[in-house]
Amino acid sequence: MVKQTQLFELQSDDIAQKLTFYSSLEKLNQACIRCDRCFLSQKRHQVVIARGETQPDIAIIGEAPEKKEDKLGQPFVGDSGKFLMKMLQAVKLDPNVYFTNTVRCRPPNNRKPSAEEIKACKPYLIDELRLVKPKIILCAGATAVAGLTGKRESITSLRGKWLNWEGTAVMPIFHPAYLLRNPSLQKDSPKWQTWQDLIAVKLKLERISALKSHRC
Ligand code: SF4
Repeated sequence: MVKQTQLFELQSDDIAQKLTFYSSLEKLNQACIRCDRCFLSQKRHQVVIARGETQPDIAIIGEAPEKKEDKLGQPFVGDSGKFLMKMLQAVKLDPNVYFTNTVRCRPPNNRKPSAEEIKACKPYLIDELRLVKPKIILCAGATAVAGLTGKRESITSLRGKWLNWEGTAVMPIFHPAYLLRNPSLQKDSPKWQTWQDLIAVKLKLERISALKSHRC
């Protein structure tokens, strides 16, 4: 276990990713609440820590808190979060989910978080995923994919293709805010593609669960 104070001394993102800083979610969340590692701490209303099941089937990573989330202190409770929840409910993926973000403080005017801000917040993301051990990770949007895996491509080219993070399957999907701006349900529309991605996630989850119960 590495002391939190050592974090600032770590120059290499690669090294930081291999280390574990927090032994429990409680300690991690307490550190987040006090965090001022990046510029976003100066503009936030409050830190938005993760919520949901702590032994989840699925962990969903968004980009950053929106205005409502900054106000309420919870991720995925704004319009786009509610919309994503409806989609998860429709494919029965909703009961056992953990919600988090690439950065935990709202960027001013909902701008994209900078590379420095993502890097500063990454130890929280990595450690919480190691602690909750989801069966599958959903990355909502290109920022979440880049934040977790370092893969920097458009979400259009990434979505629907399985990635791997520390042995866990990762599915990139469109961010729900983008889907709200693109409401078409026609074949090959972003919404239609997201349905296909969520169905693929559902099928994979069933296979993982069947494999685990077979081993027990
Ligand atoms: S975004 Fe992350 S690293 Fe930056 S101040 Fe908030 S919790 Fe700390």
